Amino acid sequence: MPEIRITFLGTSASVPTKDRGLPAVFLEYKGQGILFDVGEGTQRQFMRFGRSVMRVEHILISHYHGDHLFGLPGLLSTLALYGREKPVHIWVPVRQVPYVEAFLNAIPMGVDYPVYIHGVDEGLLFHTADFTVYAYPLEHTSDCYAYVFEESPKVKADKKKVKELGIEGPLVRELKAGNPVYWKGRTISPEEIVYTVPGRKIVYAVDTCPIFHERAVGADVLIHDATFLHDDHELAVEKKHSTVLEAAELAKKLNARLLVLTHFSARIKDLSVVEAEARKVFEHSVAARDGYTIEL
Ligand SMILES: [Zn+2]
Ligand SMILES: [Zn+2]
Repeated sequence: MPEIRITFLGTSASVPTKDRGLPAVFLEYKGQGILFDVGEGTQRQFMRFGRSVMRVEHILISHYHGDHLFGLPGLLSTLALYGREKPVHIWVPVRQVPYVEAFLNAIPMGVDYPVYIHGVDEGLLFHTADFTVYAYPLEHTSDCYAYVFEESPKVKADKKKVKELGIEGPLVRELKAGNPVYWKGRTISPEEIVYTVPGRKIVYAVDTCPIFHERAVGADVLIHDATFLHDDHELAVEKKHSTVLEAAELAKKLNARLLVLTHFSARIKDLSVVEAEARKVFEHSVAARDGYTIEL
């Protein structure tokens, strides 16, 4: 399995269609799972696309609109039936925490493992040794946040130079840790063989007008609201969503590497039209279908 795998479990806006489930994107990093939004039926989409729901550790909810969280009680309840023991962390915009708590408390779910609900505000949410997750505010008809997954930079040793010098594993580890080593009569400094590779960045910005934010600049993958085609621009303004064209323009401004469009209105039947509209502005655009997977 690749280090990063992103699976689009649902790509519809507001209501499901025959071919599209409600919003949910599952990011796996070395087996740790982060779920962005949890539309109704998300748990079944895990099964359909061969992903393990047990891997979910964090659920990042963009905002308190039904299409983004009606799947939550069902998913939590299924985890309990599967014998879940590890905690699940749920993240929601800070002002919406009481609503989500009330929503979950109103339903008997049989959950006997720890569930923590955290309030989201701009900035750092959590980090591990491998990655950090941030949030920044979007513009929608309710408080709504974008989520940014940033892999930690990786320190690597130049294999060719390691071979030339004939140094061994423990010494390479010392150099990677930033310490000089003494080898065959001389001191080798870390700069001679060690270099840093920047981590990869995934941005999830769904249910929003196009918003430029420094944190999203240089995203390897920008997952963006594309509820309407540009013909329906007025609807997008009224309902505070983005058109496909606007999402593409933003991807260009952010210098993203890949734009993945999602959250399509049921008015959009043909996704090749979406891709054609986006690619006029930003060539590396894809319209996500349910089950679409990116491996990095
Ligand atoms: Zn929505
Ligand atoms: Zn919404």
